[in-house]
Amino acid sequence: METDVRRNPALLKLELYCSGIRLDDSCHVAEDGGRAVLRTRAGLGSGLELVLPGGLWTNVPVTERFAGASPYVLHRTLDHYEIRRDGEAIAPVRLAPRPAWYDRTTSSGKPMTRIGTLQGTYLGIYPARVCEYWTEKPERSNCHFCSVGLNLGADDDPEKSVDEVMEVVHAAVEESRITYVDFNTGHYEGETYLDILEPYVRRVKRETGLLVGVQTPPHRDLTRYDALRRLGVNRVSFCFEIFDAATFRRICPGKAREYGLARYLDAVQYCAALARTGNRTIPWVSNGEIIAGLEPATSSIAAIDWITSIGAIPTVCVFRPLAGTDMEDAEPPRAADLVPVFRRLYDACMERGLPIGAAPGVNVSLVLLPEECRWFSDAPRRHWRNALRTRALRAGLTWRLRRDMRRARRLTRRGESPRAPRASG
Ligand code: SF4
Repeated sequence: METDVRRNPALLKLELYCSGIRLDDSCHVAEDGGRAVLRTRAGLGSGLELVLPGGLWTNVPVTERFAGASPYVLHRTLDHYEIRRDGEAIAPVRLAPRPAWYDRTTSSGKPMTRIGTLQGTYLGIYPARVCEYWTEKPERSNCHFCSVGLNLGADDDPEKSVDEVMEVVHAAVEESRITYVDFNTGHYEGETYLDILEPYVRRVKRETGLLVGVQTPPHRDLTRYDALRRLGVNRVSFCFEIFDAATFRRICPGKAREYGLARYLDAVQYCAALARTGNRTIPWVSNGEIIAGLEPATSSIAAIDWITSIGAIPTVCVFRPLAGTDMEDAEPPRAADLVPVFRRLYDACMERGLPIGAAPGVNVSLVLLPEECRWFSDAPRRHWRNALRTRALRAGLTWRLRRDMRRARRLTRRGESPRAPRASG
């Protein structure tokens, strides 16, 4: 593996997650068309969105305490931005462009960024009220790393109508050329999260044909995921965060009490099996999401091995001790300790022949994507067959996505409803 961040952009992305970055006075992010640092409800928080060499999108901590001691500094030169370490330029970077719709309001008068924001190149929306672990009395039981309850009303609106969301989705399609929308909720009494999301999903699918993902706690009735598959949803994601049972109970008390780790794992497994049912031309993936840095690397690797063994794809975040959270004083992980985790992420996906990197036009800033982790592998080329398969899959998906988007646009213009995707089982 290349160990010099000047030649390994994935290692640089990981280093920046762990160390953050300082902004030199020469930087004028807003004036230069960059995105403001928004405290949206993206659980692990938001930093400065940058594009690294190799086209790797990232979200770099800037406001957290540890970022103030980072060896990495962002400078603006006469014609570009660059990251320097000890005064030496190590990588030219681009600011992730701020779309024009970021400065507009919906017809109901809300700033569009309070409805949804770009995370990399996809649109992330947290449509419902704040996760109820944050509002329990007498004592809240939120996950200790989470900032969702702190952000409420800051940069994100607590209630979003389907019409408001659709206005933002259409703006993001037209102006930001998004291909994917991700819906996210916390926990609600009565397990209402899928009921809340389905009207949004239905409209997005019908009016845009975009790829859609859903991230919620695991519903008790697993057949609800069969219904989501029939609705045309393309990705379901379950954030159990931690694979070690005792650490899970300590850091995620609400999740442990309401669902328990086993129910998360059952849902990941059930949904992974759904990929082999129904209309197989409609892409479908099951994700198990963990946070590296909250448990030993060996435990994160065990999680990756389990998730990939059942045909699901791991999403691996890097722990970020966000300002104001219960864990704000914790130390961020060291990049060197996490390299084996991300190396295993790539190798495990490749060994199992999982379709990583197939979704067209999706660059993710909040995590290192499995395909980006080839930079950590000692022999990425040995998986050339899988790489060829993925390329073919991506070409097919791109073709189908364009067709679905064209069809949805045409029918919406004519005021007709496109047929829901046909499911065969
Ligand atoms: S489930 Fe945990 S991580 Fe998710 S929003 Fe609630 S407190 Fe935050």
